[in-house]
Amino acid sequence: MIVGVDVGGTTIAAGALSADGEVVVDASAPTPGAGTGGALATIVALIGKVIDQSRHRGRPIDAIGVGVPGPVDAALGRIGEPVSHVPELAGHALAAELTTRFGLFACVDNDVNALALGEWMFGAGRGARSLVVLAAGTGFGAGLVLDGRLVRGAVGFGGEFGHAPVKFDGPPCWCGGRGCLALYASGRGIADAARARVASQAEAVLLRAAGGDPMAITAALVFRAAAEGDSLATSVVDEACQALGAMIGTVVNGLNPDVVVITGGVARSLALLEAKLLGAAGEYAFPRALAATRVTIVPGEKRHGVRGAAALALYARNSNAKDS
Ligand SMILES: [Zn+2]
Repeated sequence: MIVGVDVGGTTIAAGALSADGEVVVDASAPTPGAGTGGALATIVALIGKVIDQSRHRGRPIDAIGVGVPGPVDAALGRIGEPVSHVPELAGHALAAELTTRFGLFACVDNDVNALALGEWMFGAGRGARSLVVLAAGTGFGAGLVLDGRLVRGAVGFGGEFGHAPVKFDGPPCWCGGRGCLALYASGRGIADAARARVASQAEAVLLRAAGGDPMAITAALVFRAAAEGDSLATSVVDEACQALGAMIGTVVNGLNPDVVVITGGVARSLALLEAKLLGAAGEYAFPRALAATRVTIVPGEKRHGVRGAAALALYARNSNAKDS
């Protein structure tokens, strides 16, 4: 059994993963607010709880994996910065700290790398040689497994497709670039785009649906309004599908993976728009390459993050064994 911990902006979730990829024990706690210094203590407490519960069932734990929302030097197990919502974790050599604390093999990596390994080892990409996970959540991340290896890149930026431009003269992005995919297809980007459009339309249906408060507009609300025929929301959703379709085309043409998984919180809304998304991808991808790629939408769930974090530990252990 492996413990997986998914460190999210609102919840830290932990669980024990069985050899066949089932999360059989789980525990979670709200993510302590930034500056409270409680994130590390919460992670340690949840791991302790899962280890105890698992032992009680006669299934001891033999490794720990942790996925965090930021860059990680996986070889050193050290967290870089920025770490979204949990800045206090930056700079921690978390893997070594957990090994010292629990006496178990531990590894830490970026949460979307974890998701990619989880889908590859236990989910929609099981058995594939190459898989790309595009995770549309609050932000937009991606994870790459190519020819059976997780691709982290020279300094850990491998897979930052959320900040690849889909509109080269587009607006500035919060990352410092411009016209990035995240501006169009992440939860934050979709909500921001809708807010900018309702600003000049006091009578917008979407604004009424948000109780008159532009800040109450969420991506889910935009998708719902579009499904009900609201034209302003539809224009934002169309742009999201087109941008994501362009990125699927980029991924298919550039990497030619067997499987592309679209996941994250926004994927729940996208699941109803699969035909539109594939149609958009078809405008940009080589037809033969796209035909050979299975594009699948997997609505994001907390347990996928936990499963992925445990998959990190399995993958790291296997790679260490191969390298030595
Ligand atoms: Zn960007």
